[in-house]
Amino acid sequence: MEQGVERDVSALARQIAEAGSTERTRVYHMTWWADRLLDWAMAHDDFRTQLFRFVDVFPACTDDADVVRHLEEYFEGIDVPTALDLGLEAAEHVPFGAKLGASVTRRNIKRMARQFIAGESAPEATEKLRELWRLGEASTVDLLGEKTVTQSDAERYAARVHEIIDVLARESATWPDDPHLERDPWGVVPRVNVSVKPTALAPHFGPLTRERGLDEAYERMEAICAHAADAGGAVYLDMEHYDVKDISLELIRRLGERFPESPQLGCVIQAYLKDSLDDVGAVIDWSRDSLRTPLNVRLVKGAYWDYETIVAASHGWPSPVFETKGRTDANYERCVDLLVARAGDVRPAFATHNIRQLAYAIAKTRASGLHDTAVELQLLYGMAEPVHAALRKLGLRVRAYAPVGELVGGMAYLVRRLLENTANESFLRHRFAEHRELDTLIAPPNPTPPPAAPTPTGFVNEPVHEWRRSDARTRFGAAVARAVSAPAFEAPVLIGGRAIRTTDTIASTDPAQPSRVVCTSGRATAADAQLAIELAVRAQPRWATVGKTGRAEVLRRAAAIMRTQRDELAALEVLEAGKPWAQADADVCEAIDFCEYYASEALRLARGAHVEQVPGESNVHAYRPRGVAAVISPWNFPLAIPCGMVTAALVCGNAVLFKPAEQTPGIAHALTEILLEAGVPADVLAFLPGTGEDVGAYLVEHPDVSVIAFTGSKDVGLHIVERAGITAPTQRHVKRVVAEMGGKNAIVVDTDADLDVAVPAVIESAFGYAGQKCSAASRLIGVGPIYDALVERVVEAARIVPVGAPRDMATVVGPVIDEDAWKKVRRYQEIARDEGEVLLQREDVPADGWFVGPTVAQAASPSARIATDEIFGPFLTCLRASDFEDAIAIANATPYALTAGLFSRSPSRIRTAMHAIRAGNLYVNRAITGAMVGRQPFGGFGLSGAGSKAGGADYLLQFVDPYVVTENTIRQGFAPRE
Ligand code: NAD
Repeated sequence: MEQGVERDVSALARQIAEAGSTERTRVYHMTWWADRLLDWAMAHDDFRTQLFRFVDVFPACTDDADVVRHLEEYFEGIDVPTALDLGLEAAEHVPFGAKLGASVTRRNIKRMARQFIAGESAPEATEKLRELWRLGEASTVDLLGEKTVTQSDAERYAARVHEIIDVLARESATWPDDPHLERDPWGVVPRVNVSVKPTALAPHFGPLTRERGLDEAYERMEAICAHAADAGGAVYLDMEHYDVKDISLELIRRLGERFPESPQLGCVIQAYLKDSLDDVGAVIDWSRDSLRTPLNVRLVKGAYWDYETIVAASHGWPSPVFETKGRTDANYERCVDLLVARAGDVRPAFATHNIRQLAYAIAKTRASGLHDTAVELQLLYGMAEPVHAALRKLGLRVRAYAPVGELVGGMAYLVRRLLENTANESFLRHRFAEHRELDTLIAPPNPTPPPAAPTPTGFVNEPVHEWRRSDARTRFGAAVARAVSAPAFEAPVLIGGRAIRTTDTIASTDPAQPSRVVCTSGRATAADAQLAIELAVRAQPRWATVGKTGRAEVLRRAAAIMRTQRDELAALEVLEAGKPWAQADADVCEAIDFCEYYASEALRLARGAHVEQVPGESNVHAYRPRGVAAVISPWNFPLAIPCGMVTAALVCGNAVLFKPAEQTPGIAHALTEILLEAGVPADVLAFLPGTGEDVGAYLVEHPDVSVIAFTGSKDVGLHIVERAGITAPTQRHVKRVVAEMGGKNAIVVDTDADLDVAVPAVIESAFGYAGQKCSAASRLIGVGPIYDALVERVVEAARIVPVGAPRDMATVVGPVIDEDAWKKVRRYQEIARDEGEVLLQREDVPADGWFVGPTVAQAASPSARIATDEIFGPFLTCLRASDFEDAIAIANATPYALTAGLFSRSPSRIRTAMHAIRAGNLYVNRAITGAMVGRQPFGGFGLSGAGSKAGGADYLLQFVDPYVVTENTIRQGFAPRE
């Protein structure tokens, strides 16, 4: 940038710093206690983490003793100076210590919260805002609230917004006139100004349910805007996570169509986003073309950098945020340039505590020939007090972003502020806590890109679609549309690569429209199976000689082919298996993962196992294929599960007879074709669609089959285990059965759980894919005091889960797979009436198709059938536990041991649950479905499974026989050296 402006920036920054330094210089102008606490947190990372975790759990503590229990658990072994008075010492040494310790802590934390929150109620807050106004500072009220999953929470939030508008309108009318704050070059600047969070107003405000979410948010916002217009106010739509960025901007556009003039509308742009500069350009043009009162645009840096970075990295998505602070700062300044250049088409507002950027905005404004009041500077209430004061003193137009709301709802906000204050890269920290040199702090940002991350070596999960990007939705939608209009296709029996005509066939149908046939498959007979087995027995030794590298290559090629057909395969699942979009996509990604993972695992296995060596002896521990494998698969992960079992058996050198589920032969056929195309010899892989009792049973009992990989229900699995135990006279091996079976998975919710996290996770786990995942939650166990609130919110949230045809993007609960499944869930709805109480049974479902609405029941006893039988549909049974131990006992009261979940913020209870809950996969503080290959190897024990984790390091061992060769290397007393 031009030298001149840079000089002005520097001079202005100094002026601000100077004006601020005559203010009280206490770090953040906090209480003595909070100051010390944050100082300590900045210097001690362990303490910082535990402190924020404690602040987060604090409002959920049930009583004084509970506060003290958490304090002790969080700060055990952590250096905490007595002077900080966290209440720990008091609890230890004073009689009735719990009470004393808790009340000290309670008082201190409340004080700290009050630092950042203008008031718990509207009247309390307006007092503070009047005081600010008197000092020469305007405000925008932020109603504290986080993403909601129930309509009643959304209603309550909207009601609070209406209330604050009323109170503000009434109170602010009595404030003295202040033309400096009430006018800018484009007209009146209202006193009443509120900032609203769209996610708190609309439970469906998310990428796939965007239409519904937008409608809901629009309806509530329309009323809010009409009210604000009456009050002559301004309304900002706050910006939160990247997931909802596009729809938040869409919502502003819809509101602008309806309210082009009044109320004044505002949106927020986060400069840490790589696409923010484009967004700034787009909202400016839109405001110019569509509004009669220019749009307020608040430019922030963004408060969720860590979150966005973690989410993108964990999904393998490109990061939406700039990787370095220098790049964000540089982009902030680019956005400032554009906003200042177009001031008038929009009203720019710059929200930052960074003195350089504040100075930059003003210098740019002046350099454009505009008056200082053409832009507004916004700062957070309770933060950087010296900067507020300095800006006011310099006659700039300042507005405080002032949160209002109860402490409990405000904790997330408080933690964000504390994080910001103590972050390594925080300007405030550098300036006020570390007293860094002003020169370095106000130097122009360094936009050098970070060094490119090294390309990962080894296994990497296939990234699922990033649904928040419109191109992902458009492409997938087109693939679904093609699948919907495609005619039914045939999936013949394949033996030796030849399609075999069978007398009988099986029709798979769309469970959302059962009259529609998706695929007609062959129905293999025992004779077909016999032919396939004979071929396999002959072909397998040749396949074994291909070597692990060659076979691993075949799997990698299969993965590559699947990638090219990704949306086509997933769209077929949408139709044939009734999978909603995101679930179908995830299933295809998992299939790709299995190919890649087992390919690399096979190479590891090829190196053999470690054995000790001594001079004169060579020991080799290696693995050989078992021979012929039968793979019998279920329909619920119609590509991933058979793909995992088939490829594991193949890569180890076995021949495979693949018998897919009757309900999904079309997808299974596509899998077979892909594997053959990738190079699996035709006589090594036979495709044998048919019925379980028929061809399935024949394979299980055949003496030439040496390993059976089965995934399905407990009854069938146990039957297979039994039949495979019979050894025929001609048999030369003991059959091995890898059986992955059902579950009755429980989620335990502890008293201190965060219900804002637990409730959506329970809903996702219980009702995603209509509860038809083996890992789905089917029991919800609430501990004592939390039970009623938990169940009430789960019922409320379940009431609005989108039910519909899976081909619709927004669907979460599609149909169950077939008529039998439908009848079964219906039957359990009846049983629930005898065994307890039905709390929710939704009937608002499409008439055609095997739809059954989400059902939540309460069981009187943990031994009730609804609490012990696997129902395999959208059916959740709730159980009340008297305490934590009781909750674990209830969770363990079934012979299944597949998945389980725990929501707790108590470190000791999490530790206890890790070994006490019987489950192959235990998930803590997250949903219990969605295991990832290589990250969460999957499978149960007890009556849920006899086998080793799919997608884990031991899996392939089940498809090989280990053997050891020992060679005496001594000849005439001489042996080669090591
Ligand atoms: P299912 O047991 O009815 O059928 C599974 C497969 O077994 C099908 O291919 C079927 O044709 C075949 N089969 C049926 N009777 C047979 C017999 N007598 N001999 C040989 N094969 C026979 O299960 P499903 O309805 O397809 O799948 C749902 C079940 O699978 C649920 O219980 C679920 O929990 C379980 N499941 C478990 C896991 C896991 O990893 N543990 C994963 C997915 C599904």
